[in-house]
Order: sequence, then C-alpha cells, then structure tokens
Amino acid sequence: MTHATIPPLNPPERLLMGPGPSNPDPRVLESLGRTLVGHLDPYFVELMDQTMGGLRDVFGTRNHHTLPISATGSGGLEAIIMNVLEPGDGAVVCVIGHFGQRLAELAARAGADVRVVEAAPGQIVDAAEVDRLLEAKPAKLVAFVHVETTTGACQPIEPMVAAAHKHGALVMMDCVTSLGGMPIDIDALGVDAAGSCTQKCLGAPPGLAPITVGPRAMAKVKARKQKPHTWYFDFQLLFQYWGETGATKKRAFHHTAPISSIYGMHEAVRLSIDEGREARWARHQEGHEALVRGLDRLGLQLFTPATHRAPTINVISVPDGVDEAKVRGRLLDMGVEMGGGLGALAGKVWRVGVMGYNAEPERVTRFVDALEAALKAEGWRA
Ligand code: PLP
Repeated sequence: MTHATIPPLNPPERLLMGPGPSNPDPRVLESLGRTLVGHLDPYFVELMDQTMGGLRDVFGTRNHHTLPISATGSGGLEAIIMNVLEPGDGAVVCVIGHFGQRLAELAARAGADVRVVEAAPGQIVDAAEVDRLLEAKPAKLVAFVHVETTTGACQPIEPMVAAAHKHGALVMMDCVTSLGGMPIDIDALGVDAAGSCTQKCLGAPPGLAPITVGPRAMAKVKARKQKPHTWYFDFQLLFQYWGETGATKKRAFHHTAPISSIYGMHEAVRLSIDEGREARWARHQEGHEALVRGLDRLGLQLFTPATHRAPTINVISVPDGVDEAKVRGRLLDMGVEMGGGLGALAGKVWRVGVMGYNAEPERVTRFVDALEAALKAEGWRA
C-alpha cells in the first residue's frame, strides 16, 4: 500500500474583513499553542472559573450561568433554545434576515409553537408587533437577533425586552455579531439569555459559543417537565462540569472540553477586560466611521439605512455593472477577504466586518485601499 503525503500546513496571511472570522489578536493565537493540561486538572478548573468570570464582564452580567459552550455560535443558541423550550411551548421569533430564520428553525425543532414577526431585508421589527402578538396569545419566549449579519441591521434591545416582559415571556438574544463590539449590558437591559461567538468582535478563532442564562430562564430550565432532547447541550449536565452556583470545585466529567480553545477564550476575555468595554466599543465605532469615510470617498453606498446600521458589519450595495464576485476575487489575490451577500441579497451586496482586532483605522484603511484597487482593476469609476 502506498501512503499519500500531504504538504505541511502553510496558511496564507489574510486580512479577514468579511462577516467573520476576523483576524484573532496575535496574543490569542499564541495562547492556543500553550502546553496542554487535562480537562479536570485543578489548573484547568481554575481557568474555567476565570473564563466564566471574564465572560460575565464581557456580557455585563452577574449571571452565574455564563460559559463558553463547546460549539460555534450556532451551538450556543441551540443550547439555549433546546433547554428553555419544551414541546408545545409558544415562541415568538423576530426575523430580519437569515439568522432570525435560523432561530425560528431551532425553536420549531424544539417542538415549540412558533410565530414569526418579519421585516424586509435591511429593516427591523417593530416591537409593537411583538406586543400585539403576545397580547393575542402569550408565549414562553421571544427570540431576536441583535445584529443581523446578512443585512447589517441592528434591532434595538430595550423595546423588545419591554414587550416580552410585559406579557411574562422570556427574551433571548443572538448577539453573535455584536458582543464585544457594541454596547451590551445583559443585566441592565433585562435580557434573560444570550448567545454569541468567539470569531468576530472577541478576537479569537471560531470554536466556542459564549452564552449567558439569567435566573428567570434558569428557573424555567429547572422546572422542565421532560429532559431536553439533547444530551450534549443539557444545561443540568453541563453545569455539573462547569460548576453550579456555590458548588465545590469538584467537577463531574461531561465531555472533554476543548482545552486549547478555552485558553484562547481566556486570553480574549482577559484582553477585553484590560482594554475596557467602553473603550472597545468606541474602537469598533471609530473603525466603522473610518470605513464609512473610505466608502464615501470611493462613491460606494451602504445598503442598511443609517437609522439602524450596526458598526460591526457593514453591508455595501454593489454598484450597477460591477461583477461582485470578481471584485472579491481580486481582493483575495491581494490577501484581503470580504464577504458576499447571503440569501435574498446574494450578488447584490458585499459584507465588511469591522470586528475585534481588525476594528482599528489602520487596518480598515488597508482594506479600503485594497477595495479601491480591486474596483479600478475591474474598470469601475464612481
Ligand atoms: N447568528 C449570527 C447573527 C451570525 O452572524 C452567525 C454566524 O455568522 C451565527 C449566528 C452562527 O454562528 P457560527 O457560525 O459561529 O455557528
């Protein structure tokens, strides 16, 4: 038998300015290569507690039940939904793009009776519509996406929480494209559960799903009539490993934690705390403004209305007569990645992330200059 040989790993250097992943902070990348300890080692248990503490700071919460789920962002959202909802429960899901549809799909798979409130691409949902639906028939959960990565629209949090709580519903938020890059204070806002990712504004590679679950949501989880239809994501089991409130440091084996990824998460939250949440949010806003100035100079228009535009993901209308895929190809040849459109917006927009380590004027300017060169090479003039 002959053995195939494969070349050694040699990934190209890229400036990752798409919808995610963004370039991790080099200090996070370095932490991933540190020596391994076991997943029940006292040092690792200490590290788990520190990571949970750091994540509480990032989310702006005192919720004990704050941890990185061993999955990408989708897994954290799925974990929340599968633990909170039981078959037959009502759920109202706001859909302003692809990721809202995904929340509705998850709720349906949990067996919930799902009602959807939808808005056109680029638009947001009116919380009064959620209020009206809940008035007509209560629900256990209202779910929404804070920043919809497919359209660049930012759904205001406060009115959604107010509508849900007025009718006794829990509220959960997908903050995959906002956590660490935009103001989020889970406790002050009253959000009952939220899920995010590592690979966007937190500046780590993909692979973990930071979540936080508040006391009202945990009370519902503990009062379930039946076990959730998932073993891997069962909160009751997961917290025997991650530690229940006030419990000892003795941890029950559940699964082998992705230790190196948790090193990375630990470093990412450590860096975020060192920088300060407000400073980090301001840095993302400055990066966004630098991008908008650059796009103005090139004569490009943003797709998302300015009234509810997120700084972290910038959706650009592709000018008439431009082959958007060719422009992205030319950019990649220059070592720069940006995203294309998804779903209804495929072929019509580009998506540019200003996230994490890249949310900084110099890197944004490098991107704008590369985009200008790619557009010129395609013969486009504003
Ligand atoms: N929700 C939103 C708003 C996203 O942008 C994404 C991914 O880009 C997800 C959920 C899914 O996250 P992941 O790809 O980390 O599973």
